[in-house]
Amino acid sequence: MHLKVYNTLNKRLEAFVPQHPDRVSFYSCGPTVYDDAHIGNFRSFLAADLLRRWVESPLCALKNKDGTTHTGHRTVLQVMNITDVGHMTDDDNADGAGEDKMEVAARRIEQAKKSGTVPPDAGVDPSDPFAIARFYETRFKEDAIELGLKVAIDAQADPSLMPRATDNIANMKTVIEQLLADGYAYPAGEPGARAIYFDVQKFQPYGQLSGNTIDNLKGGAGGRTSESNSQQKHHSADFLLWKEDESHKMKWASPTVSDQEPWGMGYPGWHIECTAMSLARLADGKLEGARKNHAKIDLHSGGEDNIFPHHECEIAQSCCFTGSDSFANYWFHPRFLKVEGQKMSKSKGTMYTLRDLTAKGIDPAAIRLELIKTHYRANADFSMQGLKECEKRIRNWRRLAVSLIRCPQATGTIFDYPSQWQAQLEQALDQLHNDLNISGMISMLDRWYRNDLPPAIDEVGHGSDDDDLNYLSVSPMSVIEARDQMNETIHSPMRALAALHLLDNILGVIFRPIPKSQETTIALYQPGVTPSPEIESLLIARRDAKKAKDFAAADAIRDQLQSMGLAIMDKPAGQVEVAPLN
Ligand SMILES: [Zn+2]
Repeated sequence: MHLKVYNTLNKRLEAFVPQHPDRVSFYSCGPTVYDDAHIGNFRSFLAADLLRRWVESPLCALKNKDGTTHTGHRTVLQVMNITDVGHMTDDDNADGAGEDKMEVAARRIEQAKKSGTVPPDAGVDPSDPFAIARFYETRFKEDAIELGLKVAIDAQADPSLMPRATDNIANMKTVIEQLLADGYAYPAGEPGARAIYFDVQKFQPYGQLSGNTIDNLKGGAGGRTSESNSQQKHHSADFLLWKEDESHKMKWASPTVSDQEPWGMGYPGWHIECTAMSLARLADGKLEGARKNHAKIDLHSGGEDNIFPHHECEIAQSCCFTGSDSFANYWFHPRFLKVEGQKMSKSKGTMYTLRDLTAKGIDPAAIRLELIKTHYRANADFSMQGLKECEKRIRNWRRLAVSLIRCPQATGTIFDYPSQWQAQLEQALDQLHNDLNISGMISMLDRWYRNDLPPAIDEVGHGSDDDDLNYLSVSPMSVIEARDQMNETIHSPMRALAALHLLDNILGVIFRPIPKSQETTIALYQPGVTPSPEIESLLIARRDAKKAKDFAAADAIRDQLQSMGLAIMDKPAGQVEVAPLN
């Protein structure tokens, strides 16, 4: 058994055969940082994260080029870009029409400041597009780390894993100038508003990924291009590499166009950034080396809306730059997310950000599980009910882990790694090898918790002490330790625990920091609620009102807390539990 993934490029399930199996190269199209990412964006990023974690797992087997099987721990070098150039709202338009996204963001921040809804930490100047981009970039990285995205966790130590477009303008210009020199690109237009276009007719395989071939795109590209620009282009599907525009908010010196005086300032097209950043970071020897070695990358991911035109254009530019017959060998595209059975919608308020959900006290691990539990090529349905089930599941799995930790310490307890676990594990791994199907692993863990803990371990009791739960977040077993433990120990709770560690290296929900409640004399604050003197004094006033049997006043205070988004519940010792109102 070895890993097979669905490759959008060839529209079929294929054995995943990396160029160098111990060092897999993986590029993921990242966020445009002019707003917070929503759960639909994160579903796509998390599916790529799941694939990366699975490829890195010692439990995953890959096929080698010679047909043999590669097993063992391996490293995935994953890069995710930060799109912080002020691109256009109609980026999918081959001419980049629409409005500058940073201007849209500036207007949104200005309005939010006026209405007081902007977060208190937003010391961001709406007139500075670079500041807006940094603001949302920081928030994206914080969210990504909370959701366990490994590329973001690793980028804390090595920021080059999440490169910014604005730091890579020179690389983009190098690629554009080479494409001009080799005749794959051409300048057009009048001074002051000139543009450099990629000439799609020079790249015959154009359309292989999406099916939008050059012939299919003749005749106006389905209204995707504006009339005036089309007149200066060789083909209506030719797309923008650079635009000369002194009025643009974020602008740089233009590439050199031979036989022309230096152009005025301008900005790059959207697609070129991913070609420049992936080849500069993932190919050995940077851009020059990528060209010399006809470099390819192993894996490339993005949302399904990126297939056309973004990824089609990336392939054309990259292959023409490197001289290679392909850019990425495998293209990975998770499907869209639905929310409560419907298309996600801003007006219906279902375009949740991570912060919307954690403010309700939901454990980020549950959000991660809800977003990865459905196969990446099916339209997942995100729901509040699903989140609750995920929270319960993770709680159970953590209890299973705690039970296994406590087991060896309990006198007279003997726990053999149940023989049926190995068979179940192998079956679940077979499913993962088959295009990343994780449903078997989820139901297996449920079964291990529910049915298979033998009476001996049940006597120890399912762990629930805070100290034990803390262990889960402070003492994770390394992948290597867990693998060795699995290989060396046949019958013991340690083998089961090692299995759990290895599985959670893929899932990323059990062994991680657990949101904590906070306690004061009067209140027990659940995760998602920040204690404040205002809440404390309201709770004291309510307690005094109840003592004085003024129940109307007590109820009024409860209503007031509700209007602040807080639900309260009286506890036996006179304390009040304060939770976010769902
Ligand atoms: Zn991209």
